Amino acid sequence: MQASVRLSGVTQVYVTPQGASLAVENIDFTLLPGEFVSLVGPSGCGKTTLLSIIAGLIRPTAGLVEVGGVPVVAPSMKVGYMLQQDYLFPWRTIRDNALLGLELTGRLHDSSKAYTMHLLEEMGLSGAADRYPSQLSGGMRQRVALVRTLATEPDILLLDEPFSALDYQTKLQLEDLVSETLAKHKKTAVLVTHDISEAVAMSDRVVILDRNPGRVRKELIIPDEIRRLSPFDAREAPGFHPLFREIWEEFEAMDRREGEA
Ligand code: ADP
Ligand code: MG
Repeated sequence: MQASVRLSGVTQVYVTPQGASLAVENIDFTLLPGEFVSLVGPSGCGKTTLLSIIAGLIRPTAGLVEVGGVPVVAPSMKVGYMLQQDYLFPWRTIRDNALLGLELTGRLHDSSKAYTMHLLEEMGLSGAADRYPSQLSGGMRQRVALVRTLATEPDILLLDEPFSALDYQTKLQLEDLVSETLAKHKKTAVLVTHDISEAVAMSDRVVILDRNPGRVRKELIIPDEIRRLSPFDAREAPGFHPLFREIWEEFEAMDRREGEA
């Protein structure tokens, strides 16, 4: 099967007035079509950098990035990006916010509008279409941001800590909704999170990144019996806790090393 995303030997050096810093080094990473992969790791290990590279927002200093077998040289409509902050425009209604990506890419027509309205309905937002972002809860706003991202029909979704600003209950509800929606629409996804439970509960595979410089430290395949459950139910599965622990221990080992350095 052809990879949906392939990173080969990706290295990113940021140059600032203070000097050059190696953010990620020699990352090899492959994502199969339909796969849901989480990237976890300590703050500053290069997770956002990697998403920006996959999105074509940053050209890496070295290495190759391919989406659907084609080298990435600029942002493309194949890839959708969703962030922790929803970046909805306060002066636009929910409907008009949801249509924004289509508008910006010149693809606003009857069928794409109808598809967006269908997505709003799927996300339980059709009643809110004429409201403004300030009238919505944080969870609803993130659902609008997801609709806006899905409306342009990307094959791949990049999710940078999309649940981290939400209260716990909303976060759990949204994890289930996102998981179900992405599976139904057969999307490939990369989720960045610092929440180990979330990574295990939502993913097919978890990639642990190390810091200074960012490197792949370990990869864990999530077994079928957890994968086929919703994220909420996965947390109760017998195999869940050992996986949580395994990742936790990697984090502890990284902390210990930093402490000794
Ligand atoms: P994470 O998302 O895992 O917290 P980032 O990808 O944001 O990590 O950052 C990785 C490293 O690169 C950090 O040391 C950060 O300070 C540095 N960095 C990120 N973006 C820039 C930038 N635009 N210019 C300079 N350094 C950056
Ligand atoms: Mg980040």
